[in-house]
Amino acid sequence: MKSDFEFLLDMIIGPREFFYVMECDVCGFDEIHFQHPITKKQIGIACKGCHFVCKLDFVANPNDNNRYFSISY
Ligand SMILES: [Zn+2]
Repeated sequence: MKSDFEFLLDMIIGPREFFYVMECDVCGFDEIHFQHPITKKQIGIACKGCHFVCKLDFVANPNDNNRYFSISY
């Protein structure tokens, strides 16, 4: 069964593959970077520790704050 967090990833990032893990700047938990299954471009970042999910859009400016989502429960 999927967790709420995984459901959120499906909704925001969509189809994805594991890319690599870094330590989250905010909470110190694992910050997971995802790549697209076909293009292998990095498409998203998520941290389960602070419920942070970000979709990266390479057409637009990835630093655009409007593309960042922070979810709190
Ligand atoms: Zn975090």
